[in-house]
Amino acid sequence: MSGMVPFIDLEAQRARIQAEIETAVASVLRDGRYILGPQVQELEGQLKEFSGAPEALACANGTDALMLPLLAWGIGQGDAVFVPSFTFASTAEVVPWLQASPVFVDIEPSTYNMDPDHLESAIEATLAEGRLRPAVIIAVDLFGQPANYPRLAAIAEKYGLRLISDSAQGFGCTLDDKHPVHWADAVTISFYPAKPLGCYGDGGAVLAKAKEDYTLMKSFHVHGEGAERYEYARIGMNSRLDTIQAAILLEKLKIFSDEIEARNIAALRYADGFGDLVKTPQIIDGGRSVWAQYTIEVDDRDGFRKSLADQGVPTAVYYPIPLHKQAPYAVYPVGPQGLNATENAAGRVVSLPMDGYLGGERQQRVIDAVRNALS
Ligand SMILES: *Cc1c(COP(=O)(O)O)cnc(C)c1O
Repeated sequence: MSGMVPFIDLEAQRARIQAEIETAVASVLRDGRYILGPQVQELEGQLKEFSGAPEALACANGTDALMLPLLAWGIGQGDAVFVPSFTFASTAEVVPWLQASPVFVDIEPSTYNMDPDHLESAIEATLAEGRLRPAVIIAVDLFGQPANYPRLAAIAEKYGLRLISDSAQGFGCTLDDKHPVHWADAVTISFYPAKPLGCYGDGGAVLAKAKEDYTLMKSFHVHGEGAERYEYARIGMNSRLDTIQAAILLEKLKIFSDEIEARNIAALRYADGFGDLVKTPQIIDGGRSVWAQYTIEVDDRDGFRKSLADQGVPTAVYYPIPLHKQAPYAVYPVGPQGLNATENAAGRVVSLPMDGYLGGERQQRVIDAVRNALS
């Protein structure tokens, strides 16, 4: 094998189910129900079955998926929404859209997920200051592993807050064999192509526990539609999932459990391959990751990345600049004593190739390159 190893091998998956995907897409084209065709509802049913969620609503992308429960709950001016800073922009971006304020919370250095102790002190500090009303916690299943939901849900309950799981990277992950929806009021998913369950375009979904949340979100995602077509009960948005993407996702969902298993095996091979030389990912007790990313920490990141690139192995940095350090977000509050674990991780993390088809010579090339760079 020569040339550059792929960072995420979407081609291997496509080759595996090419015939099924082509048949599924052709059937949508023949039926002509491009918007809200029957595959969309079928996918919602499958997502419920897969995750145990009582409700599921497909939508246009994982960012809108975060917006929909906030809209349903009437979040707005004066509300504080507690979010990590070590995450993709969407997690915090949706909050100022509603004139609410993100409050940035630190991560646990071992898992990179929201630190429940720091969350609690951020809530207390917000209450003491009295300017904002604590309303929602958005935890992220970063790199595919579940956040500490038992503790986060207990804090949400103690302070009367709603809990969202931003599982854009983590759909399929479990903690003690339960999906995040067991603890969260809403779980948001992205089907962006590079996510563990990706379609061939943009797509997303929200899982919910309460029927009334589902009913409101369903209305919001089609312009605030009321009981009748062209009757509007509220100001909404256009955030439907295309029928073609739903049809593709139905095929991909059939092999998803298999792929999660393969990603876990690949992660074990990495740990065996270079765990003696570098800090490999730590998973919360009882947790099972879907390995959206395989992220390690190194001292000289630039040197490490250059060495891997020279050996034909691509790397990526998620995320080099935490959100609270970026100009549009720097105006919002951070929890007490700042975000030390976040800032430390941002300077050290680097992600390696990972997907459900990683193995054999391709993975060995990565392992050899990592060993070579570090020794
Ligand atoms: C990808 C991602 C999103 C947004 O998903 P889109 O479908 O791209 O809108 C939200 N949160 C996190 C943590 C993500 O990684």
